Amino acid sequence: LDQAAELVRSPGGSGQEIAFRHFIDGRFVESVGQVSFENRRPHDGTLIGRVAEGGRADVDAAVMAARQALHGPWGALSTDERCDLVRAVADGITRRFDDFVAAEMADTGQPRSMMAHAFVPRGAANFKAFADLVRNIGAESFQTSTPDGGGAINYAIRKPKGVIAVICPWNAPLLLMTWKVAPALACGNTVVVKPSEETPGSATLLGEVMAEAGIPKGVYNVVHGFGPDSAGAFLTSHPGIDAITFTGETRTGTAIMKAAAEGMRDVSFELGGKNSAIIFADADLDGAVDTIMRSAFLNCGQVCLGTEKVLVERPLFDRFAAALKAKAEALRPGHPDDAATSLGPLISHEHRAKVLSYYERARADGATIVTGGGIPGMPAELAGGAWVQPTIWTGLPDDSPVVNEEIFGPCCHIRPFDTEAEAVAVANNTPYGLAATIWTRDLARAHRVAAAVEAGVTWVNSWFLRDLRTPFGGTKQSGIGREGGVHSLEFYTELRNICVKL
Ligand code: NAD
Repeated sequence: LDQAAELVRSPGGSGQEIAFRHFIDGRFVESVGQVSFENRRPHDGTLIGRVAEGGRADVDAAVMAARQALHGPWGALSTDERCDLVRAVADGITRRFDDFVAAEMADTGQPRSMMAHAFVPRGAANFKAFADLVRNIGAESFQTSTPDGGGAINYAIRKPKGVIAVICPWNAPLLLMTWKVAPALACGNTVVVKPSEETPGSATLLGEVMAEAGIPKGVYNVVHGFGPDSAGAFLTSHPGIDAITFTGETRTGTAIMKAAAEGMRDVSFELGGKNSAIIFADADLDGAVDTIMRSAFLNCGQVCLGTEKVLVERPLFDRFAAALKAKAEALRPGHPDDAATSLGPLISHEHRAKVLSYYERARADGATIVTGGGIPGMPAELAGGAWVQPTIWTGLPDDSPVVNEEIFGPCCHIRPFDTEAEAVAVANNTPYGLAATIWTRDLARAHRVAAAVEAGVTWVNSWFLRDLRTPFGGTKQSGIGREGGVHSLEFYTELRNICVKL
């Protein structure tokens, strides 16, 4: 338990290369085949280190360790004992707060302030929330009359589902991983995590925290690698996996669902989005502009709940567009450790090529470029990063892919509307249905539009205001199932009914 800590203590680059290894059965191990791949800092392109690339043998070892742990000391713990350990993981993250901030900064290039104020504390909070929830939850029971004039009592019990495969994206590595690992563990499952190939740091570091917290070996396992023909596909198709929880692109979800069909494994999917903001003329303009600025550009636009379609009632359109332009132009790209930085890079050059292809497409489809549209000039030491300008368009046709497909970059299209029905129809004109934000002072209209917009999560006069007890997930092609509060327990436990004749 020494290697993970190395990385994280030298995020800015001590010149030393870090070896990210798998965490299997309570130990850090290299790949059986000794294969590895590079991990680079997105803000300057420098090498962080090399990551062990998991093959079938590594996945087999991790799944076997997880299976054994289910039947070992972990499975014998009482709910209270287990929840105490899960809470200790939260304390462990808090104790090593700076290490996690450093790990996330190195892997994503996003500003320190965002990691320190949002993503890392939320990672710890997930363990606390689910430990407390599981400790306090009951299950249903019914008194039943029987034909002989007597009765029976039916009651349900919750049992862990088993070994859970946890497949994670790169955009908020610790937050999104712990949103799955915490309820899985609190419910008594064991996990094999496959972090994104772009962001191996915090999952690796969490191995150390798990061990320090006293989580028995084999309960939390990490296998690094890629998706297709690599650790991701080997894990999701492994017969020893009982259920799969995945956050990532809709296309990847389709591939995983096919793998899950074999052996009839349950899936929980949090997928892509093309989220709208609907801003009525009576809205609090300053609040709306500040919030849409965050929802479009936070994390360099790489937030599944982020807004890429902004619909503004015509009387407010020009003022809103001018104010958002000013906010976008005030964003300062820079080193994640610089307190003046308010915009990080994209995760990789590959992802930047995708985002820039939409910037090109917007031009070809006749967009007016309000601001941005290209690559910013950066100082020499950051020139190797995956930087892109925050970009706002107007004037795109409703059938442009730029306004209907998920770009996952710091960009949005602003479109005027004249009627409530028009705004709802345009917002719903996408295969996705993850999130929406509605801005109005008219209470009745807020409720009406919130119900009409096809989104799993809708905010009124706010955005990303989260309560971990509420259902979270997408409609349409944005997901299957809900996470959060008791909804996570639906996925991470099997509810069994016991009927006792009295
Ligand atoms: P991705 O789908 O490319 O990758 C996610 C993970 O899946 C990675 O670990 C990857 O290695 C793995 N993977 C890829 N192909 C696989 C396969 N065939 N079998 C098994 N595993 C495979 O997603 P990403 O680019 O890392 O993340 C960005 C996407 O995630 C965006 O679409 C975003 O909207 C979505 N997202 C959704 C939510 C949500 O809550 N709905 C939250 C965050 C991100």
